Amino acid sequence: MPELPEVETVRRGLERHVTGRAVDTVTVLHPRAIRRHLAGPADFTEALTGRSFEKASRRGKYLWLSVGEDALLAHLGMSGQLPVGEPGRPLSPHVRVTFTFKDGGPDLRFTDQRTFGHMTVVRDGAVLPGPIAHIAPDPFEPAFDPALLARKLKSRHTGVKRALLDQSLISGVGNIYADEALWRAGLHWARPTENLTGPQVSRLLDAVRAVLTDAITAGGTSFDSLYVDVNGESGYFERSLAVYGREGLACRRCGAQIRRDPFMNRSSYSCPRCQPRPRHGRY
Ligand SMILES: [Zn+2]
Repeated sequence: MPELPEVETVRRGLERHVTGRAVDTVTVLHPRAIRRHLAGPADFTEALTGRSFEKASRRGKYLWLSVGEDALLAHLGMSGQLPVGEPGRPLSPHVRVTFTFKDGGPDLRFTDQRTFGHMTVVRDGAVLPGPIAHIAPDPFEPAFDPALLARKLKSRHTGVKRALLDQSLISGVGNIYADEALWRAGLHWARPTENLTGPQVSRLLDAVRAVLTDAITAGGTSFDSLYVDVNGESGYFERSLAVYGREGLACRRCGAQIRRDPFMNRSSYSCPRCQPRPRHGRY
């Protein structure tokens, strides 16, 4: 599933290849892809045809291209991609929406095998689309407030990993990067948030930013061969993961065997020595 680094990689690709270009045609091949655009495919198409994509933005895992005062808002879901390529190339059966441009150059195809992703046009959404205004800023946004997060963690009686995944506290941190950041910060995933010290919260935030930055630099992690960036290249950060997916392998810091625990129908990976279990953990 694309997480923040993958989505940021896609945003950068869109900024390079799509912004500043005027849309010639919009074709909705599968209405499910625009199910959140309640006014329907004809309205969606009309809202974008002939207009220019001006800026590519992101909050957490949402992307948007501004179009005047409006925005084309997209979520890649589990398997969404936004490849750009020569208009004459073969059309994959998973393409849901295509955009061609007036300059006749590379087109943009919203491709999504599992169809959990979606696109919608949000009126007056250029600055921050209404449907995502409730999502907390991610740690790279100027609006992100570390002191506010620290206060919320104190008052929230939950485990630290659950808090990292809570999009109302901090956005853009998914399962993989939460495990990696907790390992870097030396914190067990079930540590009660109310007991974290100020320095621990700072260390954790630094670790979250560092992990995400490394992953963005590497072009995102790709566990799922379905994920490709805007140019169709998969990321390779997975090679440098410290704990995620490494059950039974040696901790890169201390050599202990990485353990895996069940967590919210998924898994949490941690080092038994670097991240000791808390006495009163919130599991
Ligand atoms: Zn270790």
